[in-house]
Amino acid sequence: MNETKIKKLGNLISSPKKIVIIPHKNPDGDALGSCLALMHFLKNKSHDANIISPNDYPNFLKWLPGENSIIKFSKNKKLVKSIINNGSLIFVLDFNDLNRIGDLNDIVKDSKSKKIMIDHHEKPKKFADLEFSYPEISSTCEIIYNIIEKLDPLSINKNISTCLYTGIMTDTGSFKYPSTTDKTHKIISKLIKNGAEGSKIYEKIYNEFSLNKLKLLSICLNNIKKVEKLPVVYMTLNQNELDKCFFKKGDSEGFVNYGLSIKGIKLSIILIENKEEKIIKMSFRSKGNFPANLFAEKFFNGGGHINAAGGFSKENLTETVTELIINLNDFFNEV
Ligand code: 5GP
Ligand code: MN
Repeated sequence: MNETKIKKLGNLISSPKKIVIIPHKNPDGDALGSCLALMHFLKNKSHDANIISPNDYPNFLKWLPGENSIIKFSKNKKLVKSIINNGSLIFVLDFNDLNRIGDLNDIVKDSKSKKIMIDHHEKPKKFADLEFSYPEISSTCEIIYNIIEKLDPLSINKNISTCLYTGIMTDTGSFKYPSTTDKTHKIISKLIKNGAEGSKIYEKIYNEFSLNKLKLLSICLNNIKKVEKLPVVYMTLNQNELDKCFFKKGDSEGFVNYGLSIKGIKLSIILIENKEEKIIKMSFRSKGNFPANLFAEKFFNGGGHINAAGGFSKENLTETVTELIINLNDFFNEV
């Protein structure tokens, strides 16, 4: 990691400031874990640090230390505007394009605060004054660990360790994905030493499903289809199916991964209808060198990492599936 940049960051936070920390919309374990770890670190250094999430997030993340102080833009627009306008530094974590924060975008863009981006997605957009962009690193939490370790290793307490462990665990598929390196494991070892309880964290994230979530999974798996002649499967959930299982944000998390457990499958896709936002939200997971991010970017307004990407379509579910199959055939012919 670039030490000059870390020093610059150290200078920026050398005296107490009003700081805003922002994760991407629909924040996941890595986005919230990194924001909360940074918040604890900054508060211990006497900064006034607030996390503003563009919207709500799933219940399985609502136990993270400090989570109850997170302000949701979708529910507190006026408060958020005043906090951002009165702040002097904005950290944006786990994304690299202001489009990923929805309507918060304009407020952040117009703010005079210095902006610091810390992220591990590819192709960062230029908008930050200081940029920590490391697509080769497993998670934003791993980057935050590296930064804090350089700035003040003794400050890594139980809260910080718990938040960082959570983000590294969720973004590496519990240390399974190829992004998991020996450095990742060394960091995990230090986080455990400093108080992270891996087994308890795993239980809280993965073993607190509701019965409805499992019923939804069974519907989803029942809907799985193989794309003819391609190493691709897709699954769908329409609004009726979601309503039947009292769908809540986060309930479909992880479903798409099941497709990759089939022998020979290189790409698994889930399409989820959202009648309220009038979109079909899509997630892509791939194995090996199939660039899920390029596919999502080219055809479905999205992006992400090579093996995990997302996007959306404004057509209805049937039309989106038809389009998807045409696009897959085009794309596989090219690569
Ligand atoms: P998920 O499928 O879990 O929503 O997202 C997987 C990855 O793709 C994440 O790294 C996420 O940041 C990225 N991603 C998801 N949705 C979008 C999107 O609409 N646009 C872009 N650029 N990236 C996305
Ligand atoms: Mn991440």
